[in-house]
Amino acid sequence: MKYADMVHRCFRCGYCKFTSDYTDFNCPAYRKFRFETYSPGGRMWLIRGWLNGDIKNSERFQEILFSCATCANCVEHCVFTFSDDLVNIFIAAREELVADGLIPPPVRDYLKNIHVNGNPYKAPAAERGKWAEGTSMEAYAGQEYLFYVGCVGSYDERAVKIARAVGTLLVKAGLSIGILGEKETCDGNEVRALGEAGLFEQLAAQNIQAFRDLGVKKVITLDPHAFNAFKNDYPGLGGEFEVYHYTQVLAPLIQGGKVPLKECSLKVTYHDPCYLGRHNTEYQAPRSILKAIPGLELAEMERNGENAFCCGGGGGNFFTDILGGGEESPARLRVREALDTGAEIIAVACPQCAKMLEDAVKSEEMDDRLKVMDIAEIVNGCVI
Ligand code: SF4
Ligand code: SF4
Repeated sequence: MKYADMVHRCFRCGYCKFTSDYTDFNCPAYRKFRFETYSPGGRMWLIRGWLNGDIKNSERFQEILFSCATCANCVEHCVFTFSDDLVNIFIAAREELVADGLIPPPVRDYLKNIHVNGNPYKAPAAERGKWAEGTSMEAYAGQEYLFYVGCVGSYDERAVKIARAVGTLLVKAGLSIGILGEKETCDGNEVRALGEAGLFEQLAAQNIQAFRDLGVKKVITLDPHAFNAFKNDYPGLGGEFEVYHYTQVLAPLIQGGKVPLKECSLKVTYHDPCYLGRHNTEYQAPRSILKAIPGLELAEMERNGENAFCCGGGGGNFFTDILGGGEESPARLRVREALDTGAEIIAVACPQCAKMLEDAVKSEEMDDRLKVMDIAEIVNGCVI
């Protein structure tokens, strides 16, 4: 296994499962199950035992390994030099299980669907551009930016609304953008996180070729997960593009007066997506958009920025649900934390977070007090 020589370095001191001020458990898997093996250090020792032959692969072992949300809280808070590789170590262990075909059925199904259909929804590729029907979005034909939407934004009913809100807002702000429609395929971020390195490389090669054929130089993503794959993994596979999350493009447009905003008296809290925040250190662009709306009050949650608590959807869990629901699920804990701020809206910048938190708001029966809205949806409501 890759990184096998690092696994023994973990002391199991446990710093990695907390926030920086040690006031709460911040590893979503540990916070939910409260068994040490679900914590980052526990996982390290579990993997060590498995590599040494002391522990056999079992359904339980697989469930623990695939419950990690790859949220990178442990990367942020482990004090040792190998900390940057913690998530990579967990993914490397998953790669071994995938190679042996010993994986939980929801992971197998997710990977199979991507392999067969290019998306996890078993939806036809020809319908990938359908989300843009009736909008001002045009097919990519040499515009300055390609707007890459991803599987969730293309096919999920709720996320489609977010894709439309972002796309039309960028066009309204005068940006030259085009979409790939049916030429787009899965970015593969979750495929990589679930340990299918071969399929990830295949998807990356397909996207890189499509971008190159069309002469794409700059890419704006809807989803922080795609942003992460394009920015951090595609360059190593020959795909060098200028990559932005949409908030990074929208923030300067608003500051430059391209999106005139009216007074909007709203109290909002912002949920940092792990793949925009901890994985890519972008904490400010989304906040500066919200702060630019006159009359909007931004109330931070107890855990924010590098300490933000994951919604539980990362690392493929959005699709496989191995981390699972219930009162102590990360998403339900997160919406309770959001409600405590007194905000009426949780602003999100990721369609996966939007879905996870919206379901949690319903389960907590908070629908009358708390709404989940993407930042673009909030801005659209405040445009003059
Ligand atoms: S991963 Fe790092 S912080 Fe966590 S238990 Fe191991 S050594 Fe300690
Ligand atoms: S990446 Fe997140 S979920 Fe996975 S072990 Fe680290 S803190 Fe826990």
